Amino acid sequence: MCLVTHVGQKYSGNNILINKILDAVVVGGGPAGLMAASRMAAAGKRVAVFDAMPSVGRKFLRAGVGGLNLTHSEAFEPFTSRYQPDMPVTGWVRDFDADRVRAWAAELGIETYVGSSGRVFPVQQKASPLLRAWLGQLRTLGVEFFTRHRWLGWTSLLDANGLVIQAHRFLTPHGEIVIHSRCTVLALGGGSWSRLGSDGQWLSILSDKALACQPLTASNCGFDICWSKHIQEQFAGTPLKSVTLNIHDPDTGKNLFSRRGEAMVAKHGIQGSLVYAASRIVNQLIQRTGSVTFYWDLLPDLGEQTILQRISVPQGKESRSNFLRKRLGLTGLKLALLYEFAQGHMQSPDKLAAVIKSLPITVSTARPVDEAISTAGGLCLSELDEGLMLRKFLGVYCAGEMLDWDAPTGGYLLTACFASGNCAGNAAVRYLEEQK
Ligand SMILES: Cc1cc2nc3c(=O)[nH]c(=O)nc-3n(C[C@H](O)[C@H](O)[C@H](O)COP(=O)(O)OP(=O)(O)OC[C@H]3O[C@@H](n4cnc5c(N)ncnc54)[C@H](O)[C@@H]3O)c2cc1C
Repeated sequence: MCLVTHVGQKYSGNNILINKILDAVVVGGGPAGLMAASRMAAAGKRVAVFDAMPSVGRKFLRAGVGGLNLTHSEAFEPFTSRYQPDMPVTGWVRDFDADRVRAWAAELGIETYVGSSGRVFPVQQKASPLLRAWLGQLRTLGVEFFTRHRWLGWTSLLDANGLVIQAHRFLTPHGEIVIHSRCTVLALGGGSWSRLGSDGQWLSILSDKALACQPLTASNCGFDICWSKHIQEQFAGTPLKSVTLNIHDPDTGKNLFSRRGEAMVAKHGIQGSLVYAASRIVNQLIQRTGSVTFYWDLLPDLGEQTILQRISVPQGKESRSNFLRKRLGLTGLKLALLYEFAQGHMQSPDKLAAVIKSLPITVSTARPVDEAISTAGGLCLSELDEGLMLRKFLGVYCAGEMLDWDAPTGGYLLTACFASGNCAGNAAVRYLEEQK
């Protein structure tokens, strides 16, 4: 560490910041960074949020396209079991649980409701009203926003009183600048949907500082399937519902995943909430054995015997497709999948009934990381103390998806991002108070 030397470059973005030491710099204007900013600003701290993109909260807005699943209404125990065991996520979520998420949204004038699956959504089913109200509240609290500011890293220094501060380098449309702050919250996101801002480039900055990081890998992701031209052209974008997906351990036969829900055929494979829910197990199996077979129950409301009875009657002059439509209600995508993956079983009632209840489709590669809903990996939690401050760098906190935790979809991702931002923001306030 060395003494502060202020960098007085010409900077038309906001001259006020140069040569002043802010209480807190937040890098990354996603849900985690904004939550940390609101905690610090509410405690009267001078906070500035920096983001590389032309506006903040872009991934949050994108999440709103699917209705914005903010959190989940289930009880605390099952809720926290969705995160990998032995994760400190439980601690963050204890202080900012699903009820707090709903109360926070309500304070911003956004009513929420519990869907039939227990998931919690804003009544408007989108993110823009919530983000607008949130940013308005932050501005009222005095938070300043600096977009198009790409963070390039930081150096820890000592000020004239011997207190630790951070000197951050940002690339701006006006060139490179240095901003000083007494504490910092890094909330740089994961590594998917890089066009929305979170590109994972921060990994090399943290690794260069000897901070342990795991590579960012696809989580809540789809899987490649080499569909026929017919499926690609006729059914890409078509939901596969309501089906049950079963996955077995290929060595022991043990059932590893069995859930009813909805998937979606994409041009290059299969995705959707049911597939995302299975993706952690599928990725582990692919790593272990090279491929995984999805077994689809296409008619979960009917037992195999009932199906067999219904199709064990003369077909007459009807086509096979017409017969299956009338006898079982099988049409469109489900029928196309049977023709594609069980052609040899179509004429035998026994075999057909069995394959309708367990249609095997094998996958061996996840879709690219950039397409995933979230990424696993990131900064190892062992680098952080309970308040999410880096053990090696006094006053530097980290929050959100950039940390090495993982969760399924269902509102668990956003809740942990809010909760970690809340934890880091509150701890940073205590740290600033102690520094006084
Ligand atoms: C299509 C889609 C739908 C989703 N739907 C849901 C859902 O319904 N429910 C749910 O719980 N989760 C959902 N998620 C996941 C959720 O949106 C993310 O987990 C969450 O946004 C992560 O928050 P974060 O604050 O950690 O990071 P982000 O929201 O990714 O924000 C990180 C910010 O850091 C900025 N940044 C990165 N690097 C730099 C740099 N070097 N300099 C300056 N700024 C930088 C980025 O521009 C970005 O604004 C969805 C994700 C996607 C892609």
